[in-house]
Amino acid sequence: MNILIMGGPGAGKGTMSAKIVEKFNVNHISTGDIFRSEISNGTKLGLEAKSYIDQGKLVPDEVTNPMVKHYLEGLSDKKSGFLLDGYPRTLDQAKAFDALSAGTDLEISAVIALQIPFEVLAQRVTGRRLCKECGSIYHIESNPSKQEGICDKCGASLYQRKDDTIESLQIRLQEYQNQTQPVLKFYEEKGLVQTINANQPIEKVWADVEKALSL
Ligand code: ADP
Ligand code: AMP
Repeated sequence: MNILIMGGPGAGKGTMSAKIVEKFNVNHISTGDIFRSEISNGTKLGLEAKSYIDQGKLVPDEVTNPMVKHYLEGLSDKKSGFLLDGYPRTLDQAKAFDALSAGTDLEISAVIALQIPFEVLAQRVTGRRLCKECGSIYHIESNPSKQEGICDKCGASLYQRKDDTIESLQIRLQEYQNQTQPVLKFYEEKGLVQTINANQPIEKVWADVEKALSL
């Protein structure tokens, strides 16, 4: 099963992705995570992407598309498929991925669309904390770690993303509306989209996502 998870910034894609990966044994491909890892490793790609990410803008398609292609080609363990999180995010990316995957085992079989009112996202994004080592996702109010600033799973310290500010969120929301919503339409026309109410407690959202993917 090849799954695509979509939703605005802070909708809960990463949180649901961790659960999907565990339950359905798929490879998690998060373009945001890949960019952050390239930045922290100081690579050329990371340097190229950093200024866009810090401003809340999308990294250009000419950079993102080849990166995803390269990443998919390099997957040594194919598991039971993959989960794309944060890609495709523009119509050009969706068309590029379609051209790459048509008629192959890379075709998307289900799209989960996390639906949430934009007003809720500011609180989600500003309260988000991430583990430096294992990437686990927390929230200072809705999903806090047991010990403040420390990851429950691996004991490493938590950090706040540099782009998790109100200013950056405004730009990311504009990018989402202008560039990513047409992608949702693209997959709706293919009959692949399952819309989930993401404005519920994490376990309820997960119950709905799990059900949608098990049908
Ligand atoms: P995305 O990957 O879509 O940007 P995340 O999964 O990182 O979103 O979630 C954003 C923040 O909201 C995190 O701090 C996470 O712990 C929290 N969160 C995720 N889902 C929910 C939910 N259903 N209810 C409350 N908080 C949530
Ligand atoms: P995310 O972790 O999904 O919130 O992504 C963080 C940032 O990485 C985004 O705000 C963009 O700057 C960049 N990014 C992630 N995925 C993409 C993509 N598919 N296309 C362009 N930019 C992306």
